[in-house]
Amino acid sequence: MYDKNNIFAKILRNEIPCDKFFEDEISLFFNDINPQARIHVLGIPKLDCIDFSDFINKAEEKTVSSFFTNVNLVIDKLNVRKSGYRIISNSGLDGGQEVPHFHIHILAGEKIGALR
Ligand code: 5GP
Repeated sequence: MYDKNNIFAKILRNEIPCDKFFEDEISLFFNDINPQARIHVLGIPKLDCIDFSDFINKAEEKTVSSFFTNVNLVIDKLNVRKSGYRIISNSGLDGGQEVPHFHIHILAGEKIGALR
């Protein structure tokens, strides 16, 4: 069950601030508060969804498509398409997810180390 009081839900409701990078009617992209690389942007859909699977199951196809198109748009706006980047989405306990609102991490701006 989706927790309406998770931190990203509060950011979407403007109850707590974020360092916004890009926003449209279906998504919000903002800088991670604890960056793991020189560039660390988080992308979230404006839909109550817990993780990747929940997003795919709940969202209309055009929303899924628009969200991932926006991820690519942000990659271009960050100017890292050529230099490279890593996109990650942690899901659930084994995936190491901390915030239970589906999000994509975009890490870039330096060589991103091995996953483990
Ligand atoms: P997860 O582990 O769930 O994949 O990632 C959650 C991310 O959210 C972490 O990288 C963490 O630094 C970031 N985060 C947690 N709380 C906040 C917050 O209040 N503001 C922002 N901008 N990022 C946050």
